Amino acid sequence: MNTHSIYYAAKFLISAGSLDQAPLDQGFEVAFIGRSNSGKSSAINALCNQNKLCRTSKTPGRTQLLNFFQLDTNKRLVDLPGYGYAKAPASEQIAWQQCITDYLTNRTCLRGLILLMDIRHPLTEYDVNLIKWSLNKNIVVYVLLTKADKLNRGPALMQLRTVQQQLNKYPNVTGLQIFSALKRQGIEQVYLILNRWFEFSF
Ligand code: GDP
Repeated sequence: MNTHSIYYAAKFLISAGSLDQAPLDQGFEVAFIGRSNSGKSSAINALCNQNKLCRTSKTPGRTQLLNFFQLDTNKRLVDLPGYGYAKAPASEQIAWQQCITDYLTNRTCLRGLILLMDIRHPLTEYDVNLIKWSLNKNIVVYVLLTKADKLNRGPALMQLRTVQQQLNKYPNVTGLQIFSALKRQGIEQVYLILNRWFEFSF
């Protein structure tokens, strides 16, 4: 089996409203996190080469559940609820925050977080808080600057460098890259990270 076929074979497992509905805390998980509309669902779909695995939406703030996707019996990808959708009622925002906090604090099979930020709007207050919080919890973070096709190559690379400089002070951020689900740009780099975290060896 090669790298890609493992991800291409991903299957939707379950949506959980809270951690007690999640699959057993065994094996390995890599979770995708970011603001609503940052491109999480599109990234998971691109990596798994499936259009409808993860519902993508033009309406931000609609993915309110922890969505689990199974790669094999003990490896999963997780789409975490998007944060920071200003139009969502405060009560919903608090509920999402609690759900994410609970997952990040208690999920022992979590190997790392893929943090997605729209390349045009990186490092919002939410993103920075999440990185600081993860540092405190010893959670490693790898950053994707998404929707890179929206910028020309020069400005995209400049943005990469700027964000890199700002993230240097967070040792739990193990790397960052440009990514476009639409163009499948940067996808091979992401497989390398996931393979490392899942301890796949080929
Ligand atoms: P999520 O809320 O973080 O899961 O974000 P989605 O994956 O649903 O994406 C939000 C919006 O951004 C949708 O309209 C997607 O079509 C769009 N989008 C996601 N990735 C890309 C990309 O790589 N390029 C472009 N141009 N649009 C994207």
